[in-house]
Amino acid sequence: MNVRRGRNFLQTPGPTNIPDRVLRAMHQPAWEYSGPDFVELARQTLMDIRPIFKTDGEVFIYASNGHGGWEAALANILAPGDKVLVPETGVFSFAWADMAQRMGLEFDTIPNDWRHGIDPNKVEAALRADTKGEYRAVLMIHTETATGVTSDVQAVRQAMDAAGHEALLVVDVIASLACTDFRMDEWGVDVAVGGSQKGLMCPPGLGFNAVNDRAKAAGSNAGAPRSYWDWRTREMNKNPEAYRWFAGTAPEHMIFALREALDMLAEEGLDAAFARHRRLGDATRAAVDAWGTGGVMEINALVPEERAESITTIRMGDNFEIKPFQHILREKFNVAVGGGLGALDGKSFRIGHMGDINEPMILGTLASVEAVFDILALPHGDGALTAAIASLSAAHKE
Ligand SMILES: *Cc1c(COP(=O)(O)O)cnc(C)c1O
Repeated sequence: MNVRRGRNFLQTPGPTNIPDRVLRAMHQPAWEYSGPDFVELARQTLMDIRPIFKTDGEVFIYASNGHGGWEAALANILAPGDKVLVPETGVFSFAWADMAQRMGLEFDTIPNDWRHGIDPNKVEAALRADTKGEYRAVLMIHTETATGVTSDVQAVRQAMDAAGHEALLVVDVIASLACTDFRMDEWGVDVAVGGSQKGLMCPPGLGFNAVNDRAKAAGSNAGAPRSYWDWRTREMNKNPEAYRWFAGTAPEHMIFALREALDMLAEEGLDAAFARHRRLGDATRAAVDAWGTGGVMEINALVPEERAESITTIRMGDNFEIKPFQHILREKFNVAVGGGLGALDGKSFRIGHMGDINEPMILGTLASVEAVFDILALPHGDGALTAAIASLSAAHKE
């Protein structure tokens, strides 16, 4: 039997490494759900997650994954027959648009080459062309986890305003929350959708909807037939019973985990967490650039400012075989990385640098990846680790 010793390096773009503190917080019996202790914990957690979205609006927590958060957002503000604009970013924009279609919505998209962020000018043009005001919402992915590209949320908002369009702005921040600056209120985002298992360092199992008053108003008289997802029956100030905030028994252990993760983020400070993600992202990018000097490897995201702080997608040229690559990394090095998705399947792999990770974890990952390149005789340039180390030491000297 192949025994894997030491820590597993879970460098996938979700789920991510769960800190011991979060694991320990979950290691306890269930609590009486209507007792004052749990009600207070739930209230505090629902309040303390708001600053993570930089919003004063309400955040609803679902026992679901990110897809549940997506469905919740759509069900609350949109009814079958409504139309949405979903600018293409990659696999996740397609999946969300597909969900919208299954829920009876119509959608239009704005094509994208998967190497650039959303073009705000094209969003403005699409909205201007919608002279009848049919689009009820724009659904955008902040950080597209297939491509490693982060789009400019504020620029999209400005484009919507410039077009004078009434559509709501709904943003998927599942892969960016607590990794990259996101300012829901300042940027005029109406609904933000999050998940627990990426930058928030928790197990998979929670979906979030952060909601401003405009979205709440849209949801109070419209939306699809809904029950579990319904924001209206979950509102904290309308319900003394914590039971209702979760539409039934709360996922208590996930709340224990989230509480601990929020404390950890508060101790570190959000800005410090963003800087850490940038540092580890820069080190990863420096390594990929060095590999690229002697092979086909390159960072998928073409525009440096659009490169995601939480994940790097590395293009490997055609006919790249991901299975043996991941197999050797997993079995010999105890490292997990993501495969290519959608149009990038068979051409790329992905290194997640999100959540509870530090410098030696990213250096260990990069070193292990390079060793597997050598095992598989994949040509690459030299000096990747040296470049990553230089990037980290420069960042820490500042
Ligand atoms: C991971 C991810 C999702 C899907 O989340 P699940 O928890 O797997 O449903 C959606 N959007 C983005 C941008 C993601 O990174």
